[in-house]
Amino acid sequence: MSIQTPAQTAAASTPAHQDFIRQIVRDDLASGRHHAIHTRFPPEPNGYLHIGHAKAICLSFGIAREFGGWCNLRLDDTNPGRENPEFVAGIKEDVHWLGFDWHELRHASDYFEVFYRAALKLIGDGLAYVDDLSAEEMRAYRGTLTEPGRDSPWRERPVAENLDLFRRMRAGEFPDGSKTLRAKIDMAAGNINLRDPALYRIRKVTHQNTGDAWPIYPMYDIAHALSDAMEGITHSLCTLEFEDHRPLYDWCVDHVDLPGHPELWQSVVDAGLEARPAKPRQIEFSRLNLSYCITSKRKLAQLVAEHHVDGWDDPRMNTLRGLRRRGFTPAGLRLFVERVGVSKQNSVIDYSVLEGCIREDLDATAPRRMAVLDPLRLVIINLPEGHSETLRFANHPKDESFGTREVPFSRELWIEREDFAEVPPKGFHRLRPGGEVRLRGVGIVRCDEVVKDADGGVVALHCTLDPDSRQGLPGAERKVKGTLHWVSAPHAVATEVRLYERLFNVAAPESDEDGRDWLVHLNPEAKRVLKAWLEPAAADAAPEQRYQFERLGYFVADRVDHRAQAPVFNRIVTLRDTWARQAGH
Ligand code: ATP
Ligand code: MG
Repeated sequence: MSIQTPAQTAAASTPAHQDFIRQIVRDDLASGRHHAIHTRFPPEPNGYLHIGHAKAICLSFGIAREFGGWCNLRLDDTNPGRENPEFVAGIKEDVHWLGFDWHELRHASDYFEVFYRAALKLIGDGLAYVDDLSAEEMRAYRGTLTEPGRDSPWRERPVAENLDLFRRMRAGEFPDGSKTLRAKIDMAAGNINLRDPALYRIRKVTHQNTGDAWPIYPMYDIAHALSDAMEGITHSLCTLEFEDHRPLYDWCVDHVDLPGHPELWQSVVDAGLEARPAKPRQIEFSRLNLSYCITSKRKLAQLVAEHHVDGWDDPRMNTLRGLRRRGFTPAGLRLFVERVGVSKQNSVIDYSVLEGCIREDLDATAPRRMAVLDPLRLVIINLPEGHSETLRFANHPKDESFGTREVPFSRELWIEREDFAEVPPKGFHRLRPGGEVRLRGVGIVRCDEVVKDADGGVVALHCTLDPDSRQGLPGAERKVKGTLHWVSAPHAVATEVRLYERLFNVAAPESDEDGRDWLVHLNPEAKRVLKAWLEPAAADAAPEQRYQFERLGYFVADRVDHRAQAPVFNRIVTLRDTWARQAGH
């Protein structure tokens, strides 16, 4: 898979509302096949959601919303031991944060009784049997892509014996792994998923929702198909790796036939849940793959467990909570998913496409402030000692509705150290000895003297402010090449600033599949912490308030650590794509 550049992504993405899934939905409504659209998002609560899930969420919730239907959030909790309530709570919070709400919250475990009865029905119909082969033996019998499988010696067990054994499996009489319920389909099928796939296994593990009520658990395929059928899902959207499972999905839906067998799901009604049994349709789309990102929950969990990052919400993580803490916006993520589009073509999207969408949203929504990250003192020597005044700045250059704010100005300022060069390189338009520059919102200063310490390090610049160039006066029109941001030194508020870069040094960190190798690509520079200075109007931000710090980038008041008395800001993204330049793209 090659990596798509931003331009290719823009060119290839069908307008969001023209993709093939929405076309199917439109056709189904037009033909009267469906009168309402019902979708679901079915994460397994074995970790937190990541950027890839944002695509699945926006698609299923978005389509339901656009076509006046609804979308359920269903926790696919059929693997006890790997799942826990902390992840359930986190998933709910993340879906809400992205801007979506569910029609109903369901758990696959709400239907355990339905699955069990469905399995009994399949056994009764001669379509499932209890197998005593071990997992290893079953694998050996399964055959390969080029060789058919062999029938298990237990395949022809009489129905009555199968019913008895399955009931005893449910009663907890047999140890883990000693028996499996399998669908009786076709051991010679070209699609290996149809070679008598497992439907139930014995697993005596406490479940996050049902506790110790069940010693047996349904396999993904039957649980997923019947959950969709129970909820009346019309369009079951999932990623391409499930394409080969679709025949089994349909097999489960058709042979169990929930709409025709109310006795199978009476328990759900008795539990007070609405049941709408119907025949769902599975449609697959390509996964979202993003360069510099990890979209395997197992690996994300490993980064947390081995302390390569400071938790699931570390701003370097591409989990939704990591991106949130980093300051990424829900609207920016939704824009990204829209721009990436929906297709059946697998590709890797360049990370800069995501950053571009976040910038686009923040440019419109983030108020402006001034901050200095690497301070150099600038003294305006023609202002009196102790001089101080209050200037008024617009909060947004393109949108008056953001209002204005007061910015203190005085004789001593902080400017960025890199905005001064004693020996300026070619094309340097900022401050140099004897040179002039505009101080944003103030006027033009000339650098008269460079003050150094004993080692020759520059400690201050003594400058003269041209009184005729002050903002609002006719002389303010005078042209100089550079404009610098600044903060008033006596008024500035000290802040911690955390600068984040990409977590990996290479675009495809996951491609090394053998063991731990992918960890060698971790970028040790991905987090840097600085002491910096803020104008007062930035310090009293609420947590998660986002600003553009002029000329520096977009920053957010850290959701966890920020206090007005002790501000902490995270850099969300720079103003331009500096990465592409460094990497020599
Ligand atoms: P993992 O295998 O790492 O645990 P998963 O893909 O199995 O992750 P689930 O919780 O099962 O995670 O996913 C819930 C839904 O999100 C599924 O329908 C899945 O297809 C979809 N999904 C997961 N990853 C992506 C991705 N990268 N792009 C688009 N959709 C995704
Ligand atoms: Mg999964």
